[in-house]
This record gives sequence, structure tokens and C-alpha cells, in this order.
Amino acid sequence: MPSLVINSSPPVEVPAGISLLEACASHGILLPSACGGRGFCGRCAVEVVSGDLAPPTLAEENKILGEDRAKGLRLACQARIRGDVEIRLAPEILAVRRHTGKLVAKTLVTADIAHLRIAVDEKPPFSFRAGQYIQFEAPVAPPPAKPLLRAYSMAVAPSDPLHIELMVRQVPNGTCSTWIHQNLQPGQPVAFRGPFGDFHLSGTRAPLVGIAGSSGMAPLRSIFQDMLFRGIQRPARFFFGARTRQDLFLLDEWAGFEKKAPWFEFIPVLSHEPANSPWKGERGLVTDAVARRLPDLTGQEAYLCGSPGMIDAAMAVLTARGMPHEHIFFDRFSV
Ligand SMILES: Cc1cc2nc3c(=O)[nH]c(=O)nc-3n(C[C@H](O)[C@H](O)[C@H](O)COP(=O)(O)OP(=O)(O)OC[C@H]3O[C@@H](n4cnc5c(N)ncnc54)[C@H](O)[C@@H]3O)c2cc1C
Repeated sequence: MPSLVINSSPPVEVPAGISLLEACASHGILLPSACGGRGFCGRCAVEVVSGDLAPPTLAEENKILGEDRAKGLRLACQARIRGDVEIRLAPEILAVRRHTGKLVAKTLVTADIAHLRIAVDEKPPFSFRAGQYIQFEAPVAPPPAKPLLRAYSMAVAPSDPLHIELMVRQVPNGTCSTWIHQNLQPGQPVAFRGPFGDFHLSGTRAPLVGIAGSSGMAPLRSIFQDMLFRGIQRPARFFFGARTRQDLFLLDEWAGFEKKAPWFEFIPVLSHEPANSPWKGERGLVTDAVARRLPDLTGQEAYLCGSPGMIDAAMAVLTARGMPHEHIFFDRFSV
């Protein structure tokens, strides 16, 4: 049987023909992934130091480009083992574990967003950084079928190690999000892997601009709650884009948050609210509101979360107003 060496550890035996992702998992190492091993997200890329792997699949050719290819990166979900292999992983990946718990509450906060609260079992202990995500295991088909894995960001500060919250938007025809909306009920056991991701607050004192839409509120709620919890007072404006008033949620909570955190402002922006409605707040695309309110963004930082289209539009507005690329942090909610 081929052997696998991870970060110079003693070699372990793995069957030929399985993917690097499966080989790592069979030895308790859970690599990041947002697409559940389908080769779209690119998050399971690992550095191959040496070894005999099957040639890259088309999915992999499309994802690992230029410099990354030259460095020996391979998509672990696509790269199949043929002979002995050695890989190098970041130390934080080795700390990722599988966790179990129970869904304690599920609230539909808009027509398509469910807010979940999960009680996490004490062992193994779970800790995360505000802004990170987990891979949720959805048992969409009965065993022996493997659970489906999808990425969801923590929607709460990491101050309570025994509870996490998630905000899950039901994607039309989406397998996992539909299962969560239609099948998962309070009291049911849940399992997830994590934490993953490098979307988190920087250590600077720069004023910050948050921009999100829909369930993209989740990691920003985690980050802002964590700032309050840890006494970090940086001027912060959170622009939240939605179509109509029906798509806004947690407004009372954000109003309460503004009272507790005078450094913070929540700015909802509606793109499709009827002209004759009583809405007195911002209108248009969320990026229009940012452009109107913040003509000069020199010296500020931005935290963006949501669809790839929203993130690209926000990047263009922010950089045109003087914010360098390296001050813009983002998490794309896409496969
Ligand atoms: C880091 C990260 C964090 C995230 N956090 C959140 C969060 O907090 N809340 C949230 O709601 N979502 C979040 N997401 C998105 C989430 O992970 C899922 O992608 C989403 O819930 C859809 O999963 P699904 O199984 O329901 O849909 P899928 O079944 O995966 O389908 C999703 C879409 O992809 C299309 N699709 C399916 N298969 C293919 C294929 N082979 N080729 C091309 N397209 C295909 C489908 O038509 C559908 O439109 C996050 C994503 C990332 C990457």
C-alpha cells in the first residue's frame, strides 16, 4: 500500500486510488472545503512535497493556476493517490476536529433565511475566531451514503464555547440548504467540522466598513459582537443590502447594538423597495450607499461577505475611493 507523510510525521498507509482528501480524513485530518469535495471551491488545495499522484482533473486545472501550480499545490479532493506521497499542511489544519451537538432553535428570520442555534458537545472542545466557518454535515441520504458537507459561517461571537449560531439561506434547488430548511428540526443531533477560514478582524486600529447581503450578515455579526465583547472600539459602519423591507432581519438587535456600541452604525440599504413605501432609509444598491456616504476611504479597512457579484462590485467602489486592495478582506459565499 502507498504511504502518506504529512508534515514530516511517520508515514501512514493509505489505499491506492483514493483522493488525498479521503486519505487525510481516514487519518483524522479534516481539510477545509466549501463544495464538499466537488472540485469547485479550491479550499482543499495542499502543497505536495513529493509523490505519485494521478494527473490533475479538469476541475483542478481550472482552479490551480500559475504560481500555485509551480509551487506544487494540488486539489486534495481531486488528486488520487498512486504511490507514496508527502504533503505539507498549515498547523491550524491539524487542529481541526469533528464536533457534535444538538439543534436547539431554528427561526425563519426572512422568507429564505433560517437562524440556527446549536448546543455544541463539550468534547472535543470547540473554539473559533470571529469570522470563521464550519463544514456542516447534512445526512441528506441514509447511511452508508456519506453526509453532504457545506460551509456555513459562525453568526455569533466565540464568547460561549458551548453554543454556535448559523444563518442559512435556502438556495433554490440547493441540496444542503433545502435539507436544513425542510428537514432539520430542534432537538435533532448535528455534526460539523472546523473551524476553517482566514476571514477575521485585523489587528490594526483603522476604522472599518462592513458590507454584506442576505446570510452574509453571519460572519460580520460574529466579528462586531466579538469587538463589543473584547472592548475593541474602532469606528465601524455596517452596510447591509437587501431587496425590500421583508428581506431585513434582526433590526431590533442592531438598534440595541448601536446603543451599546457608540462606535458602530448599522445602515440597511434597500434596492427594490416600492417608491411609495414608508421606508426612510437608504435606497439603491448597497455599493451606491457606500459611495454616497463615504467619498474618501483612505486609511480605512473593509470586510465584505456575500455573493461573488456583490463582492466584486464592492471592491471596485472601495478601491476607487482610495482603499488599497490589501485593506479589503472578504469571504465569497460560493461553491
Ligand atoms: C466560506 C463559505 C462560507 C459560507 N457561509 C454561508 C453562510 O453562513 N450562510 C449561507 O447561507 N451560505 C453560506 N455559504 C454557502 C454554502 O456553503 C452553500 O454553498 C449553500 O448553502 C448552497 O449549498 P446547497 O447544498 O444548498 O446547494 P448546492 O446543491 O451545492 O447547489 C448550489 C448552487 O450550485 C449549483 N450547482 C450544483 N452543482 C453544480 C455543479 N456541479 N456545477 C455548477 N453548479 C452547481 C446549483 O444549481 C445551485 O444553484 C458559504 C460558502 C462559503 C464558501
